[in-house]
Amino acid sequence: MNDIKQLTTPVLYLVVPCYNEEEVLPQSSKEFDRVLTDLIDKSIVSPESKILFVNDGSKDKTWALIQQFSQENSHFSGISLSRNRGHQNALLAGLMTAKKFADITVSLDADLQDDINAVYEMIEKYKNGCDVVFGVRSERKTDTVFKRATAQGFYKIMQKMGVKLVFDHADYRLMSRRALEALSQYREVNLFLRGLVCDLGFTTDVVYYKRNERAAGESKYPLKKMLAFAFQGISSFSISPIRWITGLGFLVSFGSILAVLYALISLILGRVIPGWTSLLISIWFLGGLQLLAIGLIGEYIGKIYLESKQRPRFLIQKAVGLPHDSKAD
Ligand code: UDP
Ligand code: MG
Repeated sequence: MNDIKQLTTPVLYLVVPCYNEEEVLPQSSKEFDRVLTDLIDKSIVSPESKILFVNDGSKDKTWALIQQFSQENSHFSGISLSRNRGHQNALLAGLMTAKKFADITVSLDADLQDDINAVYEMIEKYKNGCDVVFGVRSERKTDTVFKRATAQGFYKIMQKMGVKLVFDHADYRLMSRRALEALSQYREVNLFLRGLVCDLGFTTDVVYYKRNERAAGESKYPLKKMLAFAFQGISSFSISPIRWITGLGFLVSFGSILAVLYALISLILGRVIPGWTSLLISIWFLGGLQLLAIGLIGEYIGKIYLESKQRPRFLIQKAVGLPHDSKAD
């Protein structure tokens, strides 16, 4: 396998998931096209590059708009999902479609919150040998205090649970075809892309950008969806909540030794009503035993869970001295 050369004029696909974005699409499509045209004019990317909108089962005119854009301008293309599948699935659908045509993809939101100008720097880093370039927010001034606190708390908790994440990186990122091929080997249904991409490895870098306010329309991520997403991230990557049960089991079991001592001393001192000692001891002892047993069963379920994902066990980035393999190019 050759060390894959990063192309000088790669085919770029900008992948944009859209759910009920009729208010913002007319404005954001212009902006995306302006940057793509500039990139093509400056021969930074190939003229075959495109913007790929993913309509995620929108109930408004989003799909009609996407169709109209692609009729008027060959830079635009689109796919439409059969129903609303959620941001992560829509993004994956777009990336896997783009993988067939593109050398690199950049995923970004439809609402112009991700500063599109950061794409230049991302492509430069790709040309310098990166397979994944993460867009990282340089500040969170436009977020409410609540959103900032919850988001940063989330990253901290994830880190504590041993999940590898890039701090303050959402889903604005460049991926090379090689990284996309690797991503396609992750077969799980519960998607948490920003975790998976960190799991891939390869040569990565970050680009800082200022996150803007939504250009138009409302957020499609209300608090309920945000909490579900956070829990998804934790439960897809970590079985540490199960470990906590085991830990608690040990703690309670240890407590039961103390409880036995306490109960026996009380008994000897004759300060108890009949039956109290045996009740107290059984409650502590059984409680500890039950938690330990649940934790133990949980460990096995956790293993089944991780096995059932069938994630790739390794991904090769480089090889030298091997006979030429035509399939690797
Ligand atoms: N989105 C989607 N499907 C959904 C929800 C959201 O494709 O079910 C898209 C949405 O159109 C946008 C991106 O995901 O392009 C991010 O959503 P949003 O900007 O509403 O999230 P926020 O920035 O408020 O966290
Ligand atoms: Mg947004």
